[in-house]
Formats: sequence, structure tokens, C-alpha cells
Amino acid sequence: MGDLRAGTTTTAPRPRSLEERLDRLAMVALRVGVGFEHDDRLRLVGPLEAADLMRRITVQAYELGAAYVDVRYVDPHLSLARARYAREETLDGFPTEQADLAFTVAERGDASITVSGKDPDALASADPARVGRMNRAANRALRATSDLAMASHMPWTIVPFAVPAWARKVFPDASAAEAQARLWDAIFAATRVDADDPVVAWGAHATQLDALAERLSREGFEALHVRGPGTDLRVGLARGHVWEGASSVSGVDGRRFVANIPTEEVFTAPHAEHVEGTVRASRPLSYGGQVVDGFSFTFEGGTVVDYAAERGASVLRALLETDTGARRLGEMALVPHSSPIGAAGRLFYDTLFDENAASHLALGRGYPTTLRDGAARSSDERSHAGLNDSLVHVDFMIGSAEMDVVGLLADGDAVDVMRRGEWVLGGL
Ligand code: ZN
Ligand code: ZN
Repeated sequence: MGDLRAGTTTTAPRPRSLEERLDRLAMVALRVGVGFEHDDRLRLVGPLEAADLMRRITVQAYELGAAYVDVRYVDPHLSLARARYAREETLDGFPTEQADLAFTVAERGDASITVSGKDPDALASADPARVGRMNRAANRALRATSDLAMASHMPWTIVPFAVPAWARKVFPDASAAEAQARLWDAIFAATRVDADDPVVAWGAHATQLDALAERLSREGFEALHVRGPGTDLRVGLARGHVWEGASSVSGVDGRRFVANIPTEEVFTAPHAEHVEGTVRASRPLSYGGQVVDGFSFTFEGGTVVDYAAERGASVLRALLETDTGARRLGEMALVPHSSPIGAAGRLFYDTLFDENAASHLALGRGYPTTLRDGAARSSDERSHAGLNDSLVHVDFMIGSAEMDVVGLLADGDAVDVMRRGEWVLGGL
């Protein structure tokens, strides 16, 4: 709330420079994202083009007392080179030494920051079937590491960077410089970097989302019925599911961390075998550098039995053929249409942004932490409760201003949860 007292002359705060805001984003990644502590080791992965932010994170990590910062740059042009030119019979391979290193540092509990930001069409000129094989090989090799992440073993987070090709996709009518500046403004707003004190602002935001998650967990819904344009879907929920908000708790040392910067969602575990009906995506999906748009799925007994896409059907096919779990749901997330990112009214062609603008589902593996005591349960116990398993976890957006969600209780009662994309659950 601004100061509106009549007659008071207020000086507008000096606009912060891009450098100051990048420093603040680095600070949010460390202090909010992974809850960085003295003597922590940090693994930092991100695109070459994000070197500016990655250097700032490194400097601040050492200022906070880091034991070591291990930085790895990635370059989508190199993935494209492999997708287009590598010999066919080599595409199912993955360097095991890279997978071993990732697992070693994750198991040790090193903090992990991934800087995301990529051209949504980076691999558009490659054959989706070849890209699918590369993705499958990587997912298989990194499976044990992502198991640790999804069970919140080590503190980890993802933060965005406005790489130029992504900015051009989001703001196609602006000049290159203008597009990047506008994407940065959207990022800094969504990541609360522009708040007076970003860490305090994140504390309040996380408390609010965590309380909402607890409120939904107490309802103990058996299923959610989702309706919207092209969507009439009954999503059964896993037995003993809990909803999660912004905060996760590391299994290594119990510290709190926020795995996605930004985040606006509360999410839980669908039952892998109890999903019936049809769902239409409300936003395009950029998966592995290829865009899928205008797509829908039909579920029977929890599994996708039919699908269609106006663009990128072969990308979807490669994804669905990963394994049987890739055709089942592993996440149901609710985000009000009026969320700050949704209210921006933009398509971001980036899951970290679009999934926080709209309610979404994920095909593939579920989070053990969305079951009560899930991280402590065996994988047999988890799947018995209905938690899905797969090599992949791919979110796709279904929320809109026309989406209604009804919670179904075991005794047959129905409770309005969202109407026209907004919360209507009593007591919220
Ligand atoms: Zn989600
Ligand atoms: Zn997800």
C-alpha cells in the first residue's frame, strides 16, 4: 500500500539498475531458494548466456562462507548439434561420469541451483524422435539424482534468466533490447526482487502458500473434478496425499528451501490409476526445446488412451512412449487465474513461468513428499498409495478464467474449490 496522504511530497524510490536487480536475484536464489548456510557446497548449472547471474551467485555464495562452488555451463547449441548430426546408434548413450558426479554431490546434500532460461524453439530443427531418445537416455542416467531431488533430500532451486531468444518469443513485436528488458521486468516482479526486502516478501508469500496447502490437505478429498473449455476430467487423488506449498524441507539437515523461484502453486499427488475423462491444455508447452500447442489427452483408468495436438504431436508421442508412467499423472497443481504471473496475461513458453500462471497437471513421476511421510516410505508403499512412477515429470497447463474445480469427498459430498479460475473454498 502506497502513501496516499494528501499534501505529502514523496520522492519516488530511485529505480534500481539491472546490475542491482541481478544481485538481488542472486541473493534470492541463495537465501530463499536453497537457504544457503556457511560452509555449504553449491552446485550451479545454467546456460552460457546466464554467466552474469551465475558469477554473481558464485561471488555471494563465497561471501556467505561457501566451502566450494562447482559451476557447469550448458549450451543448447551443443544439444542441437548432437540431435542433428550424431550417429543414430549413439543417441541412447549418456556420459555415466556426468551422472555419477551429479549423484555424488546430490547424495552428499550439496545445495543445487539451476538457472533456467532457454530458447523455447532451440531444438525445433531437430527430429523429435531423435530428441526423444536423447531425453530418455538423460532421464534414465539421471534417474537416481532426480529421485533425491523429488524427495527433497538436498536443498535445490530453479531461478530464471532472460536469455535473448526466450525474450523474443515472449515479446515478438518488440526490438531485441526492449524484449529482454520487458522479460526482465516480468522476472523481477515474479521473483519479488523488486520488493523492498525480497527475503521478507518471500517469507510472507511462502507462509501464505503453505497455509493454503495445509487447508487443502485437511479436506482429504478423494478426487477433484475439473471442468473448462475442452476439459471434463475426474482426477482421483492418491491415498494419504498431502498438498504442498512453497516450502520444502531438506532430508539432509531439515533446512527449508523453495524449489521454484517464482512459485505460486499448491500441488498434490493424483492417483495413478484413477483419472477419467478429457483435458485440454490452456497454454503451449515447451518441452526439450520443442513447442507443443493446442493439445488434449483422454484418460481411462489413469492412463492416456488418446491424444491430439495442433502442433508438435510427434513431440508428445515421444514423451508418452518414454514408459508406462509417462502416460499417467504425477501431479495436480492449483494456481488462481489472478496469480501475479497469470495476471500478466502473457504466454511465457517456459514451464517455470507458465506453470505458475495456471493450474496444471504433470505427466510422469509423482513427488514422494505429496504423500504423508512419503519420503520415508518404500517405493512399493508409494505406488500402493497410488503415486505414479516414470523417468519423466512434465507439467502442462490446464487453468484458465473458465476453469471450475470441485472437490469430491468419500461420502459423496462435493465442495466448490475454484470457480472461473479463482478460489472459492470456504475460509480462504
Ligand atoms: Zn507444479
Ligand atoms: Zn511439476
